[in-house]
Amino acid sequence: EADTDPEEENMDDPPLAGVNVMNVIVVAAECAPWSKTGGLGDVAGALPKALARRGHRVMVVVPRYGNYAEPKDTGTCFIQLLSYFGVQDMEVSYFHSYIDGVDFVFVDHPVFQHQENNIYGGNRPDILKRMILFCKAAVEVPWHVPCGGVCYGDGNLAFIANDWHTALLPVYLKAYYRDKGLMKYARSVLVIHNIAHQGRGPVEDFFHLDLPEKYMDLFTLYDPIGGDHFNIFAAGLKTADRVVTVSHGYAWELKTSQGGWGLHGIINDSDWKFRGIVNGIDIKDWNPELDVHLSSDGYTNYSSETVKTGKLHCKAALQKELGLPVRRNVPVIGFIGRLDHQKGVDLIAEAMPWMVAQDVQLVMLGTGRPDLEEMLRKFERENHDKVRGWVGFSVKMAHRITAGADILLMPSRFEPCGLNQLYAMKYGTVPVVHAVGGLRDTVVPFDPFKETGYGWTFERAESGMLVHALGNCLNTYWNHKKSWEGLRTRGMTQDLSWDNAAKHYEEVLVAAKYQW
Ligand code: ADP
Repeated sequence: EADTDPEEENMDDPPLAGVNVMNVIVVAAECAPWSKTGGLGDVAGALPKALARRGHRVMVVVPRYGNYAEPKDTGTCFIQLLSYFGVQDMEVSYFHSYIDGVDFVFVDHPVFQHQENNIYGGNRPDILKRMILFCKAAVEVPWHVPCGGVCYGDGNLAFIANDWHTALLPVYLKAYYRDKGLMKYARSVLVIHNIAHQGRGPVEDFFHLDLPEKYMDLFTLYDPIGGDHFNIFAAGLKTADRVVTVSHGYAWELKTSQGGWGLHGIINDSDWKFRGIVNGIDIKDWNPELDVHLSSDGYTNYSSETVKTGKLHCKAALQKELGLPVRRNVPVIGFIGRLDHQKGVDLIAEAMPWMVAQDVQLVMLGTGRPDLEEMLRKFERENHDKVRGWVGFSVKMAHRITAGADILLMPSRFEPCGLNQLYAMKYGTVPVVHAVGGLRDTVVPFDPFKETGYGWTFERAESGMLVHALGNCLNTYWNHKKSWEGLRTRGMTQDLSWDNAAKHYEEVLVAAKYQW
């Protein structure tokens, strides 16, 4: 099961051919660059391209939140969605675009319009309605959307659903089709990107789903505090043919009562169909040699060969852009992420007095909980010569901070995979992380004796531990230049692409096919 079988590192494997070519439909609530709130958007944008490079016919289905320029209306007339009990009075239409070998299909309906900054927002009935509609529309896609003139149909078809938002898809596939002897060989994989959100609600929510009553048990979960409740993720995990999560560390944590957030029982029962696969990164988007956000305003593209001067330029440009003193020898520490309890921003707050007493600069970018946004602004106000707290969602700034910073801080309490530490390493920015989930998998700690590893890790989500790890990191930055350069180069020259992960996804899809 390990990702590191040396034979598997050989990416010269010929792509699958003939009967093994699959029709793969990735279904997600967000997809970069059209819609993105976090890692899920990046994955939905990149994994499909890597699967297509392996020879499969691949589609992504995502809601149409805005009037995007590229995808064209498929010309398909409105499709009435099914309900278990017959045709339902709900219509959607589909937009289509073929990019980098992948069919991107956008489900159009008034409930999705103008939601681009509010993908998971609104009151519970609203978001439930959006996700129900979306999953029903996604199951119908292989029949209604002519991609390059031909619909996918159900031949060798696999759906990949993602998180609770699309965990209804495996259930609809079973109830609306398989139970009726249709789409018998279409299979579904559910990927857990974050178990913290599950689509919970009162048991009565079940009656909005349009499913026969015998399905109710699948959705009912007992919880010692609240008693029985409705849980969409639970039903998806039980119904999907295979379950994947985005790292080995997180796969292990999900089976524990602390890490499984009430679903560990189901995950343990599903162990036979459960697997961890570490995310890759989109090396076209996140590549310091090609990054479009580094081509102006004094930033510069660089490679592992030119990193020394390249990063100095980017650092100076970042300092200038943010109005920080332009100094080449001061270490710039970055933080990028959603501002919530998960990301451990409060640990940075606790460590702040120590940090501002060092000769460092700190640049933070994030949006989220209003009190934490205010905290970022306060950090900046109180330490104007050293700290910047940029409240907002800016892809451009995320790229520029990743390039201009020397160190990236990720004190997440839990982190299913984490992408920012991967981007950081690719850009020669050394990560300092809490050793949890995917951060533990990907940031191998620096060993000063062997000169191996990529960064620093700390074992408990406590500010004292963070300070200790960051202190060691700064000491290396200031006093051991050769080691620092080694860290940077090793990080940049790893293979972090999606190619390897796509091969593992393919194995999962093939295994699901042969289960009958
Ligand atoms: P999560 O999915 O839990 O949010 P990940 O590390 O997997 O965390 O992915 C986060 C993604 O969202 C990265 O691509 C990161 O750059 C991006 N991101 C997070 N916050 C911001 C922000 N404020 N501005 C721009 N990009 C952001």
